[in-house]
Amino acid sequence: MDVLISGASIAGPALAYWLGRYGHRPTIVEVAPQLRTGGQAVDFRGPLHMGILEKMGVLDELRAVQTHGKAMRFVDEHGERQMEWPADAAGGDLEVFRGDLSRIICAAATDTEFLFGDRIAAMDETPNGVDVTFDSGLQRAFDLVIGADGVHSGVRRLAFGPDAQFVKHLGYYVAGWAVPNEWNLTPDHLWHNTPGRMIGVSGDHTDPSRAAALAVFASPELSYDRHDPAAAKNILRAEFRGTNWLAPRLLAELDSADDVYFDQICRVDVPEWSRDRIALVGDAACGATIGGQGTGTAVVSAYVLAGELAAAGGDHRVAFPHYAERISRFAKGTQKGGDTTGRFMAPQTARGIRMRNYINNQQWFLNLTFKIASSRSTNLKLPAYPL
Ligand SMILES: Cc1cc2nc3c(=O)[nH]c(=O)nc-3n(C[C@H](O)[C@H](O)[C@H](O)COP(=O)(O)OP(=O)(O)OC[C@H]3O[C@@H](n4cnc5c(N)ncnc54)[C@H](O)[C@@H]3O)c2cc1C
Repeated sequence: MDVLISGASIAGPALAYWLGRYGHRPTIVEVAPQLRTGGQAVDFRGPLHMGILEKMGVLDELRAVQTHGKAMRFVDEHGERQMEWPADAAGGDLEVFRGDLSRIICAAATDTEFLFGDRIAAMDETPNGVDVTFDSGLQRAFDLVIGADGVHSGVRRLAFGPDAQFVKHLGYYVAGWAVPNEWNLTPDHLWHNTPGRMIGVSGDHTDPSRAAALAVFASPELSYDRHDPAAAKNILRAEFRGTNWLAPRLLAELDSADDVYFDQICRVDVPEWSRDRIALVGDAACGATIGGQGTGTAVVSAYVLAGELAAAGGDHRVAFPHYAERISRFAKGTQKGGDTTGRFMAPQTARGIRMRNYINNQQWFLNLTFKIASSRSTNLKLPAYPL
């Protein structure tokens, strides 16, 4: 089958990889002009995530670029440690930069055609497929179309309805951008809070001259042009004006930052993951911006979607409902971790920050937290698909 996938981040190329292995012809359309390199470290936990990466043959390559976990240290404005999660706990079984992960999975999807700098403008279902018109004017027919285009999925908007129906704002925004490592920082995360805000930085483990900034702030849902990086930069500058510590230097680097990641912290709940020949995978179907193991879930979901198509002999009417049935409960479990991430990273009062620090400095609490995260990430029995 000719399968069009929207989005070349994690879920899209992972699905293309599997579709290629089953003998289909995947095409990925990505709105960005080239592969996006940005993003903080993302982690994989437990045998389910790791098993699928191994089946994809990308585990060795990923291990070669892994961060080996980063401690997560909250510091006061003098740089004094207030609270810390040790590296082995924070980084799961494998931690890599999102940009490295995306690059490696895209390279593994060798049978895939990539269309960069374009997106789906319209889709017309016919009895035999989907006629797609792209923004560029290109028109092509596909057997299936899959939305792997993130929490604000364009495919979902066209085929299922507007974001407002499916995206729940969780009261926070998150941003990440590259900065020079002028403080000789180690790869550990150094994060600094003021009430309702967190700004921080960590060194790059492969290139000591580079570092990554991360910011989180509490806010009701904002109205801004999501496709305009200048709008995101202005919001960040305004939110963190007056914050001390390294904040002024990190914010100054926004001027020249070229792949700023900026999004609301939200949860995506879509009751039906497919409609006829169109289906959703990854954050588009069940996203949790951060803290909800979205990357691991994306990789698992891509494997199951392609496997169910193979098991059903390519019949999407059988495969799509089976895929959703298998994954949705698992994904709802992992998503839960994302519901409290904003509050954890940037408690809204000074007292809240002190309490967060106190409880997270207790070993028993850390053990419990990671036990819950691990059990969520393995709570799925995978069938053996007929490769
Ligand atoms: C640049 C970037 C940085 C990120 N940084 C972090 C981070 O620091 N920490 C974290 O936990 N998560 C981060 N994420 C999100 C994380 O990658 C996802 O939560 C998770 O990996 C699931 O991936 P996904 O492929 O479903 O969605 P996403 O990773 O969100 O990818 C969606 C892809 O679709 C593309 N796209 C969007 N709309 C369209 C459209 N209409 N047509 C075509 N393509 C479209 C996007 O450019 C993107 O490449 C980041 C995502 C991106 C794109």
